[in-house]
Amino acid sequence: MDLADTFGRVATDLRVSLTDRCNLRCTYCMPAEGLPWLPSERMLTDDEIVRLVGVAVRLLGVTEVRLTGGEPTLRPGLADLVGRIAALRPRPKLSLTTNGLSLARLAAPLRAAGLDRVNVSLDTLDPVRFAQITRRDRLGDVLAGLRAAAASGLAPVKVNSVLLRGVNDDEAPSLLRWSLAEGYELRFIEQMPLDAQHGWRRSTMVTAGETLAALGAAVTLRPLPGRGSAPAELFEVDGGPGRVGVIGSVSAPFCAACDRVRLTADGQVRNCLFAREESDLRTALRAGADDEQLAQLWQAAVRGKHAGHGIDEVAFRQPDRPMSAIGG
Ligand code: SF4
Repeated sequence: MDLADTFGRVATDLRVSLTDRCNLRCTYCMPAEGLPWLPSERMLTDDEIVRLVGVAVRLLGVTEVRLTGGEPTLRPGLADLVGRIAALRPRPKLSLTTNGLSLARLAAPLRAAGLDRVNVSLDTLDPVRFAQITRRDRLGDVLAGLRAAAASGLAPVKVNSVLLRGVNDDEAPSLLRWSLAEGYELRFIEQMPLDAQHGWRRSTMVTAGETLAALGAAVTLRPLPGRGSAPAELFEVDGGPGRVGVIGSVSAPFCAACDRVRLTADGQVRNCLFAREESDLRTALRAGADDEQLAQLWQAAVRGKHAGHGIDEVAFRQPDRPMSAIGG
């Protein structure tokens, strides 16, 4: 059994959202007051998450698991959950996408529990801009978290940055120089139409092309081969060994090689970040479905996957579920 769709793609990379809650309020993600959070009775328990991830790795060929949110470090007992997923056989590669606020405290226990690597979201090195973008004055905590992640042996330590026109779009070269000096792998990600406020406009999005032009004015970039299904296009910087990635989700989509599938914190399968339909595993699981039946439901969900996100299509409509409840 595997998670094949009708376009010949096979999903082997599972993104699991552990919560829709977050302790930042990024302007391009959610309003200052937050959102109506998912009701707790609909949230998957740790046992249910481990069971479903177990079905994915044992029966459906999933080899990579990324834990996301909202902010996954808000999940109580995260290190135990990481340990239980790392104990699954075959063992999936295990990563985490986080805003880094709690990493100084959690990096070492998560590493000890079996976490392999981490992506930290950071859009600016300027504390004033950080507070402007995230509505929290906590840049220092993120920087301390990154250092703790590197010191704990998590590797690579990746940094995900979103450039916002007129806000931090002049910071691409300085973010790159800083990440190379610190030994982090930087990725610039285009802002996507997944914000809860539905305020995304293509005209205000900083494109991958613009980012590359800004970087190219400061350093020498050489495209690296072997992208495969990875979202990031990688470039060697100034003859290496430093590298930088650019993820052009909107302007240069990579859907043709997509190997990702998502499980939301309330037990829904999303076969694409921009899916408008979801498949409910939680109800079937709680109704007593066995692993085989859950696997078949999952397969059916992925078989319905569209060729791509369709953002350029006239009929494109942003998903109802916001990014904070889907995960990276
Ligand atoms: S938009 Fe959907 S199909 Fe395209 S790469 Fe992302 S998850 Fe895959």
